Parts: sequence; structure tokens; C-alpha cells
Amino acid sequence: MAASRIVIENCAIATVDARDTEYASGHVVVAGNRIESVGPGPAPAVERVVRRVDGTGHLLTPGLVNAHHHFYQWITRGLATDHNLFDWLVALYPVWARMDEPMVRAAARGSLAMMARGGVTTAMDHHYVYPRGTGDLSGAIIGAAAETGVRFTLARGSMDRGTSDGGLPPDFAVESLDGALAATEETIDRHHDTAFDAMTQIAVAPCSPFSVSTELLRRSAELARRKGVRLHTHGSETVEEEQFCKELFGLGPTDYFESTGWLGSDVWMAHCVHMNDSDIAAFARTGTGVAHCPSSNARLAAGIARVPDMLAAGVPVGLGVDGTASNESGELHTELRNALLINRLGERGESALNARQALRLGTYGGAQVLGRADQIGSVEAGKLADLVLWKLDTLAHASIADPVAALVLGAAAPVTLSLVNGVSVVEDNRLTRVDEDAVARETRGEARRLARIAAEGRPAKG
Ligand SMILES: [Zn+2]
Repeated sequence: MAASRIVIENCAIATVDARDTEYASGHVVVAGNRIESVGPGPAPAVERVVRRVDGTGHLLTPGLVNAHHHFYQWITRGLATDHNLFDWLVALYPVWARMDEPMVRAAARGSLAMMARGGVTTAMDHHYVYPRGTGDLSGAIIGAAAETGVRFTLARGSMDRGTSDGGLPPDFAVESLDGALAATEETIDRHHDTAFDAMTQIAVAPCSPFSVSTELLRRSAELARRKGVRLHTHGSETVEEEQFCKELFGLGPTDYFESTGWLGSDVWMAHCVHMNDSDIAAFARTGTGVAHCPSSNARLAAGIARVPDMLAAGVPVGLGVDGTASNESGELHTELRNALLINRLGERGESALNARQALRLGTYGGAQVLGRADQIGSVEAGKLADLVLWKLDTLAHASIADPVAALVLGAAAPVTLSLVNGVSVVEDNRLTRVDEDAVARETRGEARRLARIAAEGRPAKG
């Protein structure tokens, strides 16, 4: 049976295709879960149209792709607000280690709801806190993503270097090396979908050099390649991390990652703030990707990543909100703006990034680093129908000349319609599949319960 169609027309369109094609007024036809056509002017006459959307006053873009996040932090927002990364981690690890399954589920619902309402159509969660005896946390997170309706990559994280091994996290927050690898493999077997239109994928994601053993890094790379899934971690985030790697391994972070099999076109790393020219060249040579997290880097005073230099070298770069304990807003569209603004404070000044490049980072760049650029990240015939219709005709944006500048530089634009896989997840700035007020109540309750348990200093279970 032929697929039913949705027609969207009379809107500005920024396709973010290879030539940055834009239409001042154009149309998109969606057939089933795919984009059937995109072009200028009204839509061609087609059959089986179940919905026709008048996009007058709107900009249509590819859905935003978030390339780095930690959902669980949704219920520890607003803590340790004046700390650098290491002090912030030391303050928060003991709280995070007391999370249980209902808390993780609620936090995932909150993170996903906030992002989806703001135009994110593909989300990822780097989850690396698996305290013993806390149930199926990965299953809870994947279930929350399915409820919200967004496309999702779970980066199954791990930590095995506790304080007694010279690491940063407390011993009770880490897993054994073999236990972490076995649980990661089981998660891949159970949940990773290789289909073109996959809604759930898994990546292998040990947390960072200062919370993970060299052996876990090496064996994680072997596992991911044996299974054909991607690799993700934090890299070169702070000066302290660089010092840690030099003292312990005699290498800077990028050289250390290379020595453990961690550079390659199947790898992307969050942050990459402290990269010298040879580090950037190594990422470009190997096709290693970067998730740039400008708000988190500023909040933790980590520094300014050299995004313009990375792009000039050909490094794939996407955008991430990072965990909401270091970026309380949890919205990706503010990262478009912050990526542009913060990079202009670097060496290249006003030529560092423009609005179109910022939009590309948050769409196609994210798709690239998640390994899904053939399927999502731009509005092109044959790709999956992950699309956002931004309302730009109200007080906030109506007098801004250029719709892409309005989206990137202006206030957060309301989302009139967001489609994921051809299915509506946002209508008129409200989520269609979950009750956001109920999610807000649930997350407040779980945040309070976690604060109580952490203050008492006892594990969540037993
Ligand atoms: Zn992070």
C-alpha cells in the first residue's frame, strides 16, 4: 500500500544540504517516514495527503541532533554552580552514585521532554553511572526515549578507575572492568538496531581518561569494532585532564587515546577543548568526530574549543548540551547561538562561525558524529522525515530580516511542528506524546528524594 503523505508549504526552508540550499518560500512532501520531495514554491499535486500544513511565517529546518548529554543530571541541576570540572565532579559523584532506577527514568524523561520541545529530533545519552543493584538503567532510559518519540543513541558508559586506583570517582560508584564490558555487550545485543530508520542505537562509551583504566579503553574499542557500533567518550576537556594524562601515561589526551585504539571514523568525543595543531590534524586524518558543548565549557570555565580550526581541517563537529548539571537549560537550540558567540571570542574573531555554520553543527554535524549522516541531518529527498517548523512571525522574531539569523541569534523560537520519522512529537510548542507538566512534577519529586538520600549518606537501595 502506498504511504500516506504530509505536505508542508509556504515556509522558508534551510535544507543544510551539501550546498546549503535555501528557499525563501518552499515545500516539503513527507511520504511515510521519508522526505519525498523538497523545493521552491508550492508542493506538486500528490495523492493520499492526510495532512496539509501552511508554514507561512515559519522556517523549516532539519531536526536538531544532540551529540552529547547525560540525562541523569536533570535531577541534580543547580548544584556546585561555581566549580571547575574536577571540583564539580568530586562534589557530585557521591550524589550521583545514589541514584536508582525510578530517578534515572524520571531524569531521562525530563531531559528528553525539554530537548524534544525545543526541536531536537535525535537525542543521545552518555550514561556511565551504574551503581550495583540499581536495576535496568539502560532499559529505563531507552524506554523514556521511546515514550517521547525521538530518535535515540544510548552511549553505554562505564567507570572502573575509582579513587583507590588513582581515579576521580569514589570506589562505590565504579563497575568492575569485566562487569562493565559484559553489561555493555548485552545492551548492544538487546537494543542496537542497524536499520536505515533505526530509532534506537547503542555506542560503547567509557567515561573519561581519569575515571577509566587503560585496559577498559582498549577492550571497549575492541568490543565496539567486533559489534560494529560506535565509540564515544570525553576528551581534552580541561587543563587538569591534560596534566593527569601527562603524569600518568606520559602522553597528552589525544596521543593517549591513539595509543589505546581510540581514534577513528567510528569515534566521537565530547569537548576537545585543549587540542593543539597536531591533535586536530590527528582527528582530521582519522575522521574522529567532536561534540562541541559551548555552554558547559563556559559554565565549568574549561575554555573555548577550536571549532573553526577543526572545521577547516575537516573534522566532523556536532553540538551537545552536555549534562544539565553543567548546563541547566538542557536545550540544544541555545547551543547554536552559544557556539557562534563563544567561538567569536577566540582567535578568529567575527569570522569564526556564522549562523549557517552554527545550524549545520546542530543538525548535519550531529548526524555525522552519530554515524547517521546518510539518514538524517539535512532536508533531502530520500532521507528520514525528521523536520522542525520554527515559528518566526511573533514579537520575538518578526522583524529579523533573515530567518536563519532569527533562529540562531534570536530568542528561542517556538516549535509549531516537529516530526520524527514522519510522526509528530511537538504541535504548537507542546509535546504530543508525553504530559510535560506530569514530567515536571515527577522530576521535582525524584530530585528531592535523591537530595534526601544523598544528605543521609546511604545508598539508594539496601
Ligand atoms: Zn559530558
